[in-house]
Amino acid sequence: MKLSKLAFQVTKNPPANADTVNHKLLVQAGFVRQLMAGVYTYTPMGLKVLRNIENIIREEMNAVGGQEILMPALHPKINHQTTGSWNNIDVLFKLKSRTDKDYALGHSHEEIVTPLAKELINSYKDLPLALYQIQWKYRDELRSKSGILRGREFFMKDMYSFHADQKDFEKFYNNVKDAYLRIFKKLGLTAKVTEASGGSFTQKISYEFMVLTDAGEDDILYCDECNYCVNNEIAKVKEGDRCPKCGAPLKMGRASEVGNVFDLGQKFAKDFDLTFANQAGEKNYPIMGCYGIGVSRSMGVIVEKYNDAKGIIWPASISPFTVSLISLNGAEEYALKIYETLQKNNINVLLDDRSESAGSKFAAADLMGFPVRLVISPRNGEKIEWKKRDQEASELIDLETVLERLKTA
Ligand code: ATP
Ligand code: MG
Repeated sequence: MKLSKLAFQVTKNPPANADTVNHKLLVQAGFVRQLMAGVYTYTPMGLKVLRNIENIIREEMNAVGGQEILMPALHPKINHQTTGSWNNIDVLFKLKSRTDKDYALGHSHEEIVTPLAKELINSYKDLPLALYQIQWKYRDELRSKSGILRGREFFMKDMYSFHADQKDFEKFYNNVKDAYLRIFKKLGLTAKVTEASGGSFTQKISYEFMVLTDAGEDDILYCDECNYCVNNEIAKVKEGDRCPKCGAPLKMGRASEVGNVFDLGQKFAKDFDLTFANQAGEKNYPIMGCYGIGVSRSMGVIVEKYNDAKGIIWPASISPFTVSLISLNGAEEYALKIYETLQKNNINVLLDDRSESAGSKFAAADLMGFPVRLVISPRNGEKIEWKKRDQEASELIDLETVLERLKTA
């Protein structure tokens, strides 16, 4: 891709209403545009990042046995009346049609997936079943001011699983927890598995995946010596107390919830009368789990964690491009040759071919934050200047070495 042709580019002025780093940098670097509080457009570069995150999630969800579907965002009222969410979920967006019918916009999809599962589940032989999707969610959040960390429309991966008994559920639940830790690691995030209340669904404990960041909206109590972590909202312990697991002093930190897993018990199966026949032929309600990941929130948290005074520093796993290729005055022809060679070698490269000063090209590359910057200058002959975004030092190397290094970048 050539930067001169790219829709949405770096802008000099940060958005006036940005009070978080992710909002400021994502707009300035050309990854998102705000339509209104909590509602964003993803530009070509921003969408590439979302898709890269999605694919890391998809791979792990498929590996635990999830099957991907895509459910509607527009729901009839009756499904939400059946579970009580029509009256009980305060963030539910409700709309009326011109024929006076009521609809909800999906804040979550238990109400849609459970009736669907009725078509698939008759006997214990049909279990376990796990369905997931990656889709927009709608929530009437009171405050939406942390950039893409809290949207009124946001991207989520939600998986729902159905099991014959608690033991089978627990096994799957633990597999998903492990898969989540792998996902967040691949995204460059250290997620703490945090005990929390089961929320609106059940009285049971749930687990949240928390990443320490001042931009978050939760407080967690965690232990640095072992992996104990609990949401402050429900905690029986406080900062400085001894860790109940290992005795070390507990710390308190601000964090953002990037995912969670819930034991839903039989609540939704009962609401929709979803049953299966067990081995003895008796009717039973399956045990259900749900598993969310905030896809767009994760993108925001990554920006909160990976940035410096000059801009974003994308982890290579989700960066929209691997290379910022900068062509300086007088080196256009050679830069184009390098650009084509990189493309032939399947390297994702953005060529800065704009007629801008060297300074503004360097600033743009730093702001956009791809892992490697290559500079082609008439001063350097055939040599190429190589610099990693997260390092200060640059070096002059030949094309062969560039290609060799990019194979592992
Ligand atoms: P929160 O406590 O932050 O409101 P939640 O408990 O309501 O989150 P879930 O309903 O379980 O979250 O949604 C699953 C995941 O979706 C969350 O772990 C979070 O990463 C993400 N998420 C939830 N609400 C939002 C939002 N308004 N904007 C962006 N991501 C969100
Ligand atoms: Mg919420």
